[in-house]
Amino acid sequence: MNDVDRCIELITNKAKLVAMLAPSFPIVYSYPQIVARLKALGFAAVLEVTVGAKKTNEEVAALLKANPQSRFISSPCAGFVRLVRKNYPQLVPFLAFKADSPMIATARIAREKYPDCQPVFIGPCLAKKLESSEDYPDLQIVVVTYKELDGIFQRFGIGDVDATGAAFDLAEDSTRIYPMDGGLTVTSGVRSILKEEEIRIVSGAKNIPAALEEFQKNPAIRFLDILFCEGGCINGPGIVSPLPLEARKKKITDYQASMNAPH
Ligand code: SF4
Repeated sequence: MNDVDRCIELITNKAKLVAMLAPSFPIVYSYPQIVARLKALGFAAVLEVTVGAKKTNEEVAALLKANPQSRFISSPCAGFVRLVRKNYPQLVPFLAFKADSPMIATARIAREKYPDCQPVFIGPCLAKKLESSEDYPDLQIVVVTYKELDGIFQRFGIGDVDATGAAFDLAEDSTRIYPMDGGLTVTSGVRSILKEEEIRIVSGAKNIPAALEEFQKNPAIRFLDILFCEGGCINGPGIVSPLPLEARKKKITDYQASMNAPH
């Protein structure tokens, strides 16, 4: 059974579900309307995946501090990790797997805080389905894209709902720019651990071969922050939006600003 059918089955059976909403959501949904719609669909709790991204950041920073001679390639991008495993197996040891991806870190938090709930990750990424099923089957995360969620909303007849009082059950502000390229480096404090010339930030499939070649040739690069989709997860295949990259970035930063504004 695929993840969409599984999600529909769980909702139909009124299973206890916890939604984990990826930080690119403001490109396609407004807040808090999306939380209210997910609750109307039957989700018991809705978590912002920025919570897990904060944990990812802490783990990346700890890795760099504990291993001053080591070199790492970031591993939250499921599409990039699969590309490395297939085409660059010699670089697999550099992947910073000791740091969980934001989805995995959030699922661990969800499993602990809501032990009787099934976690459902909602995001822009198709490769996250493989990260869940192949790499972390024990966490049993159901993964659906925004595009697929729209179909699920339609199927259950959930349009706009009254969002009065709706809010994330767990949220984190510091990592809201995570889905933009360089989001990990900017929010994790990597720049206070390493020198600028030791860091590279790269996104886009077409830029990956040159970036990996440079990483292999230049041992002075200690951290490669890399995402498969050009511009980052804001350009993931599960997003249906006519907006160009700059407008998508603005959606993210506007959302972050609105959450910080006095209410
Ligand atoms: S950059 Fe693309 S492939 Fe990588 S995690 Fe984000 S949406 Fe998925």
